[in-house]
Amino acid sequence: NKLCPAMPKVELHAHLNGSLSRSTLLELKRFNADTGVTDTSDAFLDEFQIGAGDTRNLSDCFQVFNIAHRLTRTPGSLALATTLTLKEFQDDGCCYIELRSTPKETPFMTSRQYIETVSETLRSNAHLPIKSRLIVSINRNSSIKEAEAISELTISCYKQYPDVIVGIELSGDPNIGQFEDFVPSLTKARCAGLKITLHCGEVCNPKEVLEMLRFRPDRIGHGVCIHPNFGGTQETWDALCKFQIPVEICLTSNVNTKSTLDYNSHHFKELYNANIPVIICTDDKGVFSTSLSQEYRICADVFGLQPPQLAKLASNAVDYVFADEEKKSIKEKILNFINKNGL
Ligand code: 5GP
Repeated sequence: NKLCPAMPKVELHAHLNGSLSRSTLLELKRFNADTGVTDTSDAFLDEFQIGAGDTRNLSDCFQVFNIAHRLTRTPGSLALATTLTLKEFQDDGCCYIELRSTPKETPFMTSRQYIETVSETLRSNAHLPIKSRLIVSINRNSSIKEAEAISELTISCYKQYPDVIVGIELSGDPNIGQFEDFVPSLTKARCAGLKITLHCGEVCNPKEVLEMLRFRPDRIGHGVCIHPNFGGTQETWDALCKFQIPVEICLTSNVNTKSTLDYNSHHFKELYNANIPVIICTDDKGVFSTSLSQEYRICADVFGLQPPQLAKLASNAVDYVFADEEKKSIKEKILNFINKNGL
């Protein structure tokens, strides 16, 4: 039980606004009140968390993010949310994190200021033991033109913050939009040197899954409906096995949004047994009331992984980090822990 929080870990799939804990939301409320910004009532905060028995469907789940979005509309509150979240991951034994967030235009800042604020905040926290980077998100409900604009903005900000921004990703309600519309924007970002990760196979859509895998992203998120037992086809599964694309696994998120029936029937097992690279992640630790160490603990409890296997998962995850320059020192940190604890 003590191993999971103590073990140095990397987090590669965490949405900033979904990661806000209840105490962070309350602190943001106080901050907004102090700075004269109206946000939302306390009653709404109680709707932010989605548990396993929640009756909301997947599309309803996407509405909860609006609660956080109302609290992070100013540069000050966004910076505070970023810092507090970073520290919470650090306190949970996370030594490297790639936070992701969707730039939003608000009455208080432009999309560029949004990216600049998160980037500046991560840069100003570079002295912390936890190392951090930013992945810019494109929401699937964006038009082609909006996606192009986010891609160009990200490329421009990447030149300003090459030490912070590492990639671009596609997320948002998987029932909205189609992947092919985003290919030109993502290709442009890739040509500029940014890494790519895609939310892939959260709902059953083998045609899109295949298009995504053939695009050869650096990583994919979730990967629920790829194996034939989970709504994928032999062709989607063969493509994943052939390309060996690392999958960011979000156990509690999949169970709580009912993408997966329960932990026991989670596709982690199929991927792990087939030696597909997997990375244990939280997705939205605030919304799903979880933590990175809790997700590792679930792996141990549900799939019977022993301490050396958990440690191997944590150390292998470093190979799929987007910031190449950080890999060596993070790997050393995890291997030192493994050796010291005889794992
Ligand atoms: P933000 O980008 O505002 O920092 O984080 C919240 C956003 O991340 C949501 O509005 C949504 O677009 C995206 N997101 C969070 N969790 C999930 C998820 O499980 N699946 C998908 N497809 N998108 C998500």
